[in-house]
Amino acid sequence: MNKLDRTLTDAASRRAEEPLVSVNGRTYAWPKHPTVVICFDGCDPAYLEAASAVGAIPAIDRMRREGFAASALAAMPTFTNPNNVSIVCGVSPAVHGVSGNFYLDRDTGAEIMMVDATPVRAPTILSAFSQGGARVAAVTAKDKLRKALGQGLDGIAFSAEKADEATDAENGISEIGALVGRGAPDQYSADLSLFVLDSGIRLLETCRPDLMYLSLSDYVQHKHAPAAPEAIAFMRAVDERLARMIALGARLGIVADHGMSDMAQPDGEPNVVYLGDLLDAAFGPGAARVICPITDPFVRHHGALGGFVRVHLQQTEPSVAEVLQFIQKIPGVGMAATREEACLRFELPEDREGDIAVVARSGVALGAHASDHDISQLSGERLRSHGGFAEQVVPFILSHPLKAGRVEGGAGRPLRNYDIFSVLLNEVKA
Ligand code: ZN
Ligand code: ZN
Repeated sequence: MNKLDRTLTDAASRRAEEPLVSVNGRTYAWPKHPTVVICFDGCDPAYLEAASAVGAIPAIDRMRREGFAASALAAMPTFTNPNNVSIVCGVSPAVHGVSGNFYLDRDTGAEIMMVDATPVRAPTILSAFSQGGARVAAVTAKDKLRKALGQGLDGIAFSAEKADEATDAENGISEIGALVGRGAPDQYSADLSLFVLDSGIRLLETCRPDLMYLSLSDYVQHKHAPAAPEAIAFMRAVDERLARMIALGARLGIVADHGMSDMAQPDGEPNVVYLGDLLDAAFGPGAARVICPITDPFVRHHGALGGFVRVHLQQTEPSVAEVLQFIQKIPGVGMAATREEACLRFELPEDREGDIAVVARSGVALGAHASDHDISQLSGERLRSHGGFAEQVVPFILSHPLKAGRVEGGAGRPLRNYDIFSVLLNEVKA
């Protein structure tokens, strides 16, 4: 990390009594109470509405009534890694460099899976506070995200997935099974998220971190629509844990990395445009390479199909303009743009963007070649996924009210999910 980006300002010189921490050009007040940010993975606003309607989420309902509730925009593309990294850095992917779970290195042509902190090129708010002397903990569902979010963090950082393997040297904590009361959960289970929340509760009860980041998994939302009994039961289980954290004196902020949409046809078949097959047919095999940045080692519940892909052209012919025109006419494509346009509009890093960025219409998934995607693993369930504009609106909920009645993202821009640390630390009533 770039430690020069971090400055610890002595508060005596300002008028506050506590120090401020500056990171990536934004300034954060020192937490006066244990402060917890939860990335509720895949929590489309529809899940809150469905659960609220049947009285399953009384703690969240109370937060919305007595604290603060708004909608915020997630970073595009609406995938897990770009948004988690945006949230912990407080800035867009253009600054921190992570614009997918998976990308093509344009210099070497190698396809690179994000498995650690290597692609992250900005310091995190968590690392800055920990190095300023705050007690900081980060708990994630999956371990690859823990490595990215825990970079430079002098404190506790572990994943539910690898909870049984945590060591003091690597994770700042060990024997998590004894702490939480059960061992690491199955990575394809609702318990993966609940284990993260239970860990957060136990940390609040024991070492009481000043600042904590808890990042869940969207396993349930990929599998179940908002009104499904399984989704309601999950929301209820999450809500009970949030209530416990508030009872323990935490200031809670909840955002999501993205929403979740049904991407199946009426008959249940996945509604997919296989862009790689269409480009091969139009321009010859291998003229263009389609990269699906949703791809990660956990594809069972979405088959690596989402609402956003990148197209890399392999030769000078056909031209970008020619391919762009072709893609824009494909039914199911909502938007296609050149690298320059996409990076400007979505605040993405140019060196990790394709020649063309493609966003699906709502309800449509984009893939490379039909043969690249194993949709048999959906085992008859409707495809639910994310990546496009339809999943960009996410909840932004705080347990405590703001000093002023409303808040914006700064400079008149709309509220973003990655404003959550700033609003929670700077705008909530003391
Ligand atoms: Zn996610
Ligand atoms: Zn997902």
